[in-house]
Amino acid sequence: MIDDPRGFGLKKPALAAAFSDDLREAVHGLAEDDFRAVLPILVEHGLLQLFVSPLEQGGYSYTGDWKSVLGCLSEIGGIDLSTARLLEGHLNVLQLVSLYGSTAQQNFVLETVQNGGMLGVWGADGREPVKLDGVEGTSAWCLSGSKRYASGAGVLRAALVPISQKDGPMQLLLLPVDDPSRVDLSSWHYRGMQRTASGTYSFENLTVGPEAFVGQPDCYRLEPWFVGGIWRCAAAQLGAIEAIVKIIAWELNDNGRAEHPLQRARIGRAIMQARTARLWIEDAAQRVETTRPNADADEIAQTVALSAYSRLVTEEAAMSVIDLAERALGLGSFENSHPVERLTRDLAVYIRQANPDAVLLQHGRVLASSL
Ligand SMILES: Cc1cc2nc3c(=O)[nH]c(=O)nc-3n(C[C@H](O)[C@H](O)[C@H](O)COP(=O)(O)OP(=O)(O)OC[C@H]3O[C@@H](n4cnc5c(N)ncnc54)[C@H](O)[C@@H]3O)c2cc1C
Repeated sequence: MIDDPRGFGLKKPALAAAFSDDLREAVHGLAEDDFRAVLPILVEHGLLQLFVSPLEQGGYSYTGDWKSVLGCLSEIGGIDLSTARLLEGHLNVLQLVSLYGSTAQQNFVLETVQNGGMLGVWGADGREPVKLDGVEGTSAWCLSGSKRYASGAGVLRAALVPISQKDGPMQLLLLPVDDPSRVDLSSWHYRGMQRTASGTYSFENLTVGPEAFVGQPDCYRLEPWFVGGIWRCAAAQLGAIEAIVKIIAWELNDNGRAEHPLQRARIGRAIMQARTARLWIEDAAQRVETTRPNADADEIAQTVALSAYSRLVTEEAAMSVIDLAERALGLGSFENSHPVERLTRDLAVYIRQANPDAVLLQHGRVLASSL
């Protein structure tokens, strides 16, 4: 039996045991698409405000050091991957608004999280991309179009919404997203990650003033935080990977099958995959969160490439560990109430992130040039 619940001789729990127990209990038996029942637990345990520190002069600073954020996301990912994904988006907003937002925008974010509001980043465009048109004779702008895969649609209070302008820079807007009539969850019927409610949100005819614009044009693309920030997503996935590995080991020990050399080999391979992913993610997280934007361009490119590759390594580890779990535990692991069943379904969906081929090729070029 593996006694250390952190698995492979690695970390201590990053979160209070009371929170993890409450979350575990809440998601147990809850409808898979219900996040509303989970949100109060995040609020009650202070998770939404965990990494914000209000400043005397107004605004806040983001205090999410890489170890704490990685520990938090991976631990939650091992309990409920949808919750981890939503918290990942929330933390991304906290970091981006602290980097680029005005004091007024930071105060808005502070007030929102203090009142139990959750935030997210909605980048993927819907069928009609989100566009901005100036309202003649005013400083206002009218929006059209929608965002899809908008995690937390119907739950989030506000979102950071990057808008690409034709042949122009990308503009980042901080927008209220709490109008239920704009939410469409009919397109979100997926095998896993149901609780993220990643539907469509329409911005049609929403009028905003200049106060919605965050930072300079294209600030959202600044590295190492843009592509580099993918390590957080991998950290959440890592939690599910590690949880699956533990369940494989525990179950095979319990049913007396672990001593079979082929089953032992499966446990060993699963541990190798999980630990490889963890080491890549830890390295990427540390580099991204400690590299400054005024660092040497080559250093930033290298940091970003390593973070992007940590996503690919995690994707491979996830697919391998899912396969090992199915082979090691057999048909029983597909039963609805089996602990790996939902974890593997959620993980298989969540690792499908944008354009892995391009990530492999583009960032591989950067890494090869430094050999
Ligand atoms: C649970 C979940 C929550 C999400 N939440 C959010 C959110 O809150 N906000 C948000 O903005 N997004 C969100 N996303 C969406 C995410 O950002 C991506 O848009 C999405 O995961 C893309 O997946 P895809 O498989 O369609 O990618 P694709 O890029 O379509 O990749 C599919 C395959 O096609 C290949 N491919 C891609 N482009 C080409 C090409 N031009 N030619 C040939 N092959 C190509 C890829 O390499 C890959 O093999 C979420 C996704 C998930 C799974």
